Amino acid sequence: MKKYDVVVIGAGIAGAATAYFLKKNYGAHDILVLEKGPAPASGASGQNAGILRQVVETIPIAGLARRTMEFLSSPPDRFCETPVLDQKGGFLTVRDGRDRRLDDFLRISMSAGVRVYPVDRMEVLKSIPILDEARFVSALYSPTDGVIDINGLVRSFLRGIEVRISSEVTGFRCSDGKIEAVCAGGEEFAAGLFVIAAGAFSEGLGRLAGSDPPALEPRRRHLVFSSPVEGASPDWPYYWSMDPQLYFRYESSGLLLSPCDETCMKPESLAPSSEALSWLFDRIRMGAPKLVDIPVKRYWAELRTFAFDNNFLIGFDNKMKNLFWVTALQGHGMTCSSAVGEMAAALISGGIPPMDHRPHSPARFS
Ligand SMILES: Cc1cc2nc3c(=O)[nH]c(=O)nc-3n(C[C@H](O)[C@H](O)[C@H](O)COP(=O)(O)OP(=O)(O)OC[C@H]3O[C@@H](n4cnc5c(N)ncnc54)[C@H](O)[C@@H]3O)c2cc1C
Repeated sequence: MKKYDVVVIGAGIAGAATAYFLKKNYGAHDILVLEKGPAPASGASGQNAGILRQVVETIPIAGLARRTMEFLSSPPDRFCETPVLDQKGGFLTVRDGRDRRLDDFLRISMSAGVRVYPVDRMEVLKSIPILDEARFVSALYSPTDGVIDINGLVRSFLRGIEVRISSEVTGFRCSDGKIEAVCAGGEEFAAGLFVIAAGAFSEGLGRLAGSDPPALEPRRRHLVFSSPVEGASPDWPYYWSMDPQLYFRYESSGLLLSPCDETCMKPESLAPSSEALSWLFDRIRMGAPKLVDIPVKRYWAELRTFAFDNNFLIGFDNKMKNLFWVTALQGHGMTCSSAVGEMAAALISGGIPPMDHRPHSPARFS
């Protein structure tokens, strides 16, 4: 049986970016990525809104977001055939002038070196005129934010990496506190190191591997894609209203919208709910009234996975010696993709991570 240096479980953005930087920065060649779906990005990484939003809740994540923006806006030669990031900016708004959340976001963003500044209502309306009846009062604008080609990005990270699709990991062979091999699709794959990058399924896999994994919480969120909307422009920045919670961006002559729902859910039970449409239209009535008649073409749901403290889970397992985690990327997996991959690859290879990894370390759960 061939023994790989590293077997990565999951060909979502976490697994793909980790494999890419192991190869690019540390010359690792014998990497195998196992994916249970029929193609890479079969989970949340292929079904999300693709918004790169650097204005986030914590400084460690804002730092990863900024670093990823820099990578995606100026990727290495031959990384991708077409640009993977369209930097058209993004707005974040609140409805009450006393709401301090924008101040908090501004402070966090500035500490992490993210370019963001307050703008007034007129500035937002100049960019997205359809919001003229929306009841927001103030906004932040982040000019280097934008929209990511999510499938193009996963494809670019995985170029030249061995990936087995339709290969669900169903068991681990372990000895003496170490994993020797994983079982997938009736075969065994041996490796020196195993990476769990299985999104919402990560905690269950960790348990199967003999670890005592931290509790991770998958939360369902819906996206709604509209038919063409008159006046919608591909130049619009994305629009994120904090109150009511709602976001949208331009997509293929229509809009991609989310009611920002978060229902805790076991990954096996994931299914979209038609209730998402009433949540969305309730929020649209206040958050973007001119869209109340927007025609819905289709909608779907996927899972965002959270650790208890809103940081990621990147690092060696606390129990199994050769098990490594890259997961719990919440709603920021695309935004932080390259920096997460760089951090994981550095920790695996004994290199120096590009930024402080301790906020994301599994050690915080021991
Ligand atoms: C509705 C929605 C909108 C979002 N919008 C954004 C956004 O605009 N910007 C942003 O930055 N982030 C966004 N996110 C978050 C982003 O999608 C996630 O953070 C990211 O995709 C997580 O990537 P991952 O690789 O950890 O997990 P996943 O993409 O879920 O990848 C895990 C992979 O592992 C595979 N797998 C699972 N179990 C096994 C097994 N046993 N064997 C083999 N393979 C297995 C799965 O099939 C899957 O392909 C959004 C999420 C949702 C749900």
